[in-house]
Order: sequence, then C-alpha cells, then structure tokens
Amino acid sequence: MEKNSKIYIAGHRGMVGSAIHRYLIGKGFNNFLLRTSAELDLRNQLAVNNFFETEKPEYVFLAAAKVGGIISNNTYRADFIYENTMIQSNIIHASYVTKVNKLLFLGSSCIYPKLAPQPMSEDLLLTGPLEYTNEPYAIAKIAGIKMCDAYREQYGCNFISVMPTNLYGPNDNYDLQNAHVLPSLLRKFHEAKINNIPAVTVWGTGSPLREFLHADDLASASCFLMEKYDAAGLVNIGTGTDLTIAALASMIKEVVEYEGAIVYDHTKPDGTPRKLLDVSKLHDLGWKHTIELRDGITAVYNSYKLEN
Ligand code: GDP
Repeated sequence: MEKNSKIYIAGHRGMVGSAIHRYLIGKGFNNFLLRTSAELDLRNQLAVNNFFETEKPEYVFLAAAKVGGIISNNTYRADFIYENTMIQSNIIHASYVTKVNKLLFLGSSCIYPKLAPQPMSEDLLLTGPLEYTNEPYAIAKIAGIKMCDAYREQYGCNFISVMPTNLYGPNDNYDLQNAHVLPSLLRKFHEAKINNIPAVTVWGTGSPLREFLHADDLASASCFLMEKYDAAGLVNIGTGTDLTIAALASMIKEVVEYEGAIVYDHTKPDGTPRKLLDVSKLHDLGWKHTIELRDGITAVYNSYKLEN
C-alpha cells in the first residue's frame, strides 16, 4: 500500500474498523474511503456495487459485521447469519468485479469447532461441530473465508482472511444484553462501585477460558498482514495466552478498585469451554502483540470513566 492508496475500511465506526483507521492515519496513510451504515447499507447488493464502481477502492479492510456477545448471538440467530453473509458477499464480489488490489477479511475465533484441541491452529477449520450459541455467525464467517479462497483460486484475487481472538478496546459495545464479556464486566464493576452495590453478577460458572486482544494490536496485525501475507487459508491473530472468566473478573475488579463480591449466575450459558488461538503462524511471519491484558484493560477503563 502506498501512503496515498485509496483504502476502503468497511465498518470504520466499529471497534475493529476504527482501530484500523487510527492505525493507518498514524502511519501516514491519507486517502480513505469511509461510509456510515446510514450512507451505505452493505446488505444492499446494488448499493454496494454502485459504490465500488464509482469509488474504485484499491485496498479493502472488511471489518463491517453484525457482532455481539453470547446471548445476542444466540437470540438473533437469523439476523447474524443473514446480515453477515450479505455484507461480506456483496463486498467480496464487488471487490473482484472492480479489481481491488487486495482485500482483508476479518473473521473470528468462533469459526473453530466447539471442542477443538487447544491452542487452535488454522488447519482445525471444519474438523468438527461448532458451538451452538454462535453457530449462525460462525457459519457466515466460514463462508467468508471460503469465498476469499475461491475468488483467489478461480479469479486470482488477492483476498486474505484473518481470525482475531476475543477483542476489546475503544468504541466497544457496552450494552449489557448484547456486549461481550470484557466490556460487560467493566461496566458492571464500574456501576457497582459508583452505586455501592454489594455484588457483581458474572454469567456462567467462571470456568471457561478466553483469550483477549486489544483492538490496537489487532489493527497493527491486520495492517502487517495486508502488507506481508498473500496466500489462501487464514491467519490467527491473538496473544497466545488465555485466562478463566473468573480470573478476568478478578482482574477487572482490581482495575476498577471495586470492593464488593462476585457471584456467578449459573442459568447463563458458558459457551465454548476454551478458545485459545495457536498464533505460531503469525509469530513466524514476524508479528507479536504489544499490549498486555491488564494494561489494556486499565487504558480502556480510564477512557470509559471519562465518557460515563
Ligand atoms: P463468547 O466468547 O462467544 O462465549 O462470548 P462472550 O464474550 O459473550 O462470553 C464469554 C464468556 O464470558 C461466557 O462463558 C459468558 O457466559 C461469560 N460471561 C460472564 N459474564 C458475562 C457478561 O456479563 N456478559 C457476557 N457477554 N458474557 C459473560
């Protein structure tokens, strides 16, 4: 990518897209194509085709998606599969038609089988049944990976796929019903602290293991792969270490300086028991994360406090 290459970031107001945008600005890139969902409905094929024909982006970061936490994924099952397959199919096909130089498609670690051996390497894709709660989302993302590979094979398109682990960072979703665990707990502990509530409820048993990556690290890895990786298949993006939800809750409790108790709501689902990515492919390519979890949570909490 040249500094003045025309770069389309689909989903630039979301946590991932905004992090990529910030990162590229910091590196001196200056020719961005950005559209809000009100300006361009990515589920609308005609609108997407017209946009690509008119604007002719050279590079595409496909960070637009309908995303959410475990309850949201499980409740809006139809919306998750429909919206995500439409958004990505429209963008991938339009990128082929208008000869985009390179496209980077962002997926998620939930594409791997529920009971995959840990840590999960890229070749475990499609080797077993998925976790039920996020199966519609995962199926959409798997379709996106396979589309990128099929367009590479049939048409020679340079489309790559990257699979981030659980993410957190600026512009995250803090809506308690729909958010992921880290922003949800940050908000719950903060509100319990300022309202002197004696206990915070954590969903499930606390025993599932999860890995967390700061969105700024994801942006750095995505731009690194946009420059350096030109092959079929997928690349995991994570830190390579995980912790239990109970340990995460304790860490957030400490960062927030909340003095009350933690209780577990066993009526809520645990989801996948463990979801740790094998990041050796990414490390071998030459990228490693820089933001450790406690530092990242502290930074996110400091900005959350200012905004709330
Ligand atoms: P997942 O990684 O796809 O399972 O999605 P989540 O980030 O929503 O949930 C991760 C784990 O955290 C699950 O075991 C949840 O039950 C647990 N968890 C604990 N408290 C919460 C909470 O307040 N919100 C969410 N979303 N998950 C929670």
